[in-house]
Amino acid sequence: MHVISTQNSIAKRRSVVIVGAGQAGLSVAHELKLQGLKPLVLEKNRVAYAWDQQRWDSFCLVTPNWQCRLPDFPYDGDQPDGFMDKKSIVNYLQRFAQHVNADLREGVAVERLTPIGNGYRLVTSEGVIDAEHVIVATGGYHRPRRHPYAERLPSSLLQIDARSYRNPDALPEGLVLVVGNGQSGSQIAEDLHLAGRSVHLSVGRAPRSPRRYRGKDVVDWLDRMGYYAMPISDHADPRTVRAKTNHYLTGRDGGREIDLRRRAMEGMHLHGRLSSITGDHIGFTNDLAANLDHADAVYCRIRSSIDSWIEKEGIAAPIEQSYSPCWQPPPVDDPGIDLNTQPFAAVIWCTGYRGDFSWIDAPVFDGSGLPAHDRGITQSAGLYFIGLPWLHTWGSGRFCGVADDARYLARVISLRLQRRDASLEKLECTAILGS
Ligand SMILES: Cc1cc2nc3c(=O)[nH]c(=O)nc-3n(C[C@H](O)[C@H](O)[C@H](O)COP(=O)(O)OP(=O)(O)OC[C@H]3O[C@@H](n4cnc5c(N)ncnc54)[C@H](O)[C@@H]3O)c2cc1C
Repeated sequence: MHVISTQNSIAKRRSVVIVGAGQAGLSVAHELKLQGLKPLVLEKNRVAYAWDQQRWDSFCLVTPNWQCRLPDFPYDGDQPDGFMDKKSIVNYLQRFAQHVNADLREGVAVERLTPIGNGYRLVTSEGVIDAEHVIVATGGYHRPRRHPYAERLPSSLLQIDARSYRNPDALPEGLVLVVGNGQSGSQIAEDLHLAGRSVHLSVGRAPRSPRRYRGKDVVDWLDRMGYYAMPISDHADPRTVRAKTNHYLTGRDGGREIDLRRRAMEGMHLHGRLSSITGDHIGFTNDLAANLDHADAVYCRIRSSIDSWIEKEGIAAPIEQSYSPCWQPPPVDDPGIDLNTQPFAAVIWCTGYRGDFSWIDAPVFDGSGLPAHDRGITQSAGLYFIGLPWLHTWGSGRFCGVADDARYLARVISLRLQRRDASLEKLECTAILGS
């Protein structure tokens, strides 16, 4: 067990406990310290674990470095418009942890969280702790989703999830099927393709985004347009936006867009959505053309919303050629994959994740297993969430917006503690002086 701590043993009663020491947990720890509080941070692995252990080797941020604005610790390198690689992200977070200097215990897992009289009981791998306020900062990507047919694949075929993929050489020789083309799937398929591996990619309805447009990175334009600061309540589709697939593009090679049509011209085999696995046959829906068109439609919509904004604001920006697709799928039914004749070695499931909060006993879930909250504050007094996708804004589940959410929660908790102290004081005075 690796434990960073300012004390040797954990006090059994704490006023604030944070579960998870990723960017979200550390950010709220920092803000609570600024409010004069001394939160305890429990981390079952170590700081930046998800970035270090659950991303592939060539991983780079998709968002530009200038968006890494953790509280009082913005990106301080010399490439604000670049995209940090995995090693640099881990280093940035480790330095942030040192800067925050919280009472942090690494290697301590919270196994159960249960409401008790005035707060919560945390059953941890290192004993029981009671806390008045608990902030769950365990991220939103706990359990990889796999197609229910996955279990029908022959056992000779290696099956892994996106977070277990490391690099092309770590896979056995042979063809690789990547299922799902969201941000992870399209980047992993590219990683294999660029290394000369023969890749089949099952393409679903993931949207795609331009990288640079009219002289700037698209993230730069969208930031100026206020998209990242927009609260979820102002979103055109607040009910479903939290579950939406991210747009695919990459920060690799200095940042570029991913055009799967171009990859198909170079030899990547594209299929529609996976529809069946029977015996040694994998079938796909004949929706590849529609799915590529859908991704392009989103791509073009992003470009035209930037165009409209440039025009409205009267900005001088270079004009770009209009988009036209460079490849179309052949107009024949996809025969699918015959595992008897095609030497497949591995399937990589890039079909998303679901949150797992089953260790929390409090009645704060919405029926689908996700926490119900208002800007991270639940109906169960003293229980909070942070770091979830669209907790409050687009940036809440990312580097760029977590600082605002952390500040907000820290103020709420500090106020609640002050009020509790004030009412306790009042009670004491009443007891001493009589009513
Ligand atoms: C593939 C991928 C690419 C991404 N790319 C970007 C990007 O380009 N830019 C961007 O801004 N964001 C990106 N994100 C989103 C986001 O920044 C990351 O998901 C980030 O890791 C979220 O930080 P977090 O602190 O909320 O959660 P995490 O980093 O997941 O940290 C949670 C921590 O909680 C710990 N923990 C979990 N359960 C317990 C428990 N029971 N007890 C104790 N500790 C526990 C874990 O060990 C972990 O260290 C990406 C996400 C993914 C999955």
